[in-house]
Amino acid sequence: MPHPGPDSRWRVPFDGGFRVSRASTHHAFENADERLAAASARLEKLQRKLYADDRFSLLLVFQAMDAAGKDGTIRAVMRGVDPAGCHVTAFKQPSKEELDHDFLWRVNRALPERGRIGIFNRSHYEEVVVVRVHPELLAPQRLDRKEKNLFAERYSSIRDMERHLYRNGTIVLKFWLNVSRDEQRRRFLDRIDDPIARWKFAAGDVEERGHWDAYMEAYQQALNATSRSWAPWYVVPADHKHTMRAIVAETVAETLEALPLKWPLPDKEEEAEMARLRALLQAE
Ligand code: ATP
Ligand code: MG
Repeated sequence: MPHPGPDSRWRVPFDGGFRVSRASTHHAFENADERLAAASARLEKLQRKLYADDRFSLLLVFQAMDAAGKDGTIRAVMRGVDPAGCHVTAFKQPSKEELDHDFLWRVNRALPERGRIGIFNRSHYEEVVVVRVHPELLAPQRLDRKEKNLFAERYSSIRDMERHLYRNGTIVLKFWLNVSRDEQRRRFLDRIDDPIARWKFAAGDVEERGHWDAYMEAYQQALNATSRSWAPWYVVPADHKHTMRAIVAETVAETLEALPLKWPLPDKEEEAEMARLRALLQAE
């Protein structure tokens, strides 16, 4: 099985060399809309083949600061894809039941079946990002652990889990939608001013923004620790929404194109049976 994900300029290197400060937030394609449309058309066909082939599954993980455009990107990239073959799970603050299990339990329950595409709108990475920025979130997890090595252990658990998935036919691609702090401010202001977008704005979002540098540091560490050949991260500039969507769609399409997907063709015996049935129908 090939390693997932094209080697593009957006891919986070596997050697820990990624720096948030050097990552572009504002790349723009001239023809972003055409590129998105072309990639979506490819995706539509590829998804049908993935489904028919029924051996691999695809997991797309989306992480981002608020207002980076996760929801819109998921919608745009999956437009045209058969909803029966695709499932989106949004991970919010963990429930009591989720807190009664290890941190990977809830994501494992949401993994895609063979032939399907699973999308995580936020994911297990919250456990090494928001929890790192707000260590008090660890208290309800009731771990008998010191915080010192906890995040290094979590990176290791995540790498192991994702490698296990790769070995067992689940292709994992991870996208960090990288919005600039300025653009986030503009989008928050738009949400406040537009009565129809207002529901998307939560007062707490402004407070989280105050922890920007801590979030960037947590993302940098998490991406460096978990971008690997079997489950790469892509850092996608998010200030231009159309370009961001085109980059994600193209990355997903290229990944599926590299898989050895086959239409399940009938064997000799089935061929013979089909010929018999055809003759029966024609004789009616
Ligand atoms: P929207 O675009 O609708 O705001 P969202 O993904 O931000 O989408 P919210 O309900 O606003 O959804 O926020 C979910 C919140 O849950 C985020 O602040 C996120 O950090 C938090 N969260 C997700 N997973 C965890 C976790 N494992 N531990 C603690 N907090 C988490
Ligand atoms: Mg939110």
